[in-house]
Amino acid sequence: MTDEHGEPAPLDGNGLGGVLGAFLGVDVTDAILVCDGCGRQQVLAALVVFGAGPGGVARCRGCSHVMLRVAEIRNELVVDLRGTTRLRLRRP
Ligand SMILES: [Zn+2]
Repeated sequence: MTDEHGEPAPLDGNGLGGVLGAFLGVDVTDAILVCDGCGRQQVLAALVVFGAGPGGVARCRGCSHVMLRVAEIRNELVVDLRGTTRLRLRRP
């Protein structure tokens, strides 16, 4: 899907949560992340995600700060949390 300028349209964090959940074995779409840029607390599903295929870059819905980068490379998942002050996961 593209926006009015032909650029890939941003997605919400549910797809990224699905990729993470497949590797971790738990649903992490309701994981709470705190933005390093503005301090906003939000669930993973609410982040604004750019990128096609497995993985992507997730930005804060409040200030657009990059909070999370996820890439699936061969059979490994690489997660870069620079931009996130805190990550809270609930016990399944
Ligand atoms: Zn922010």
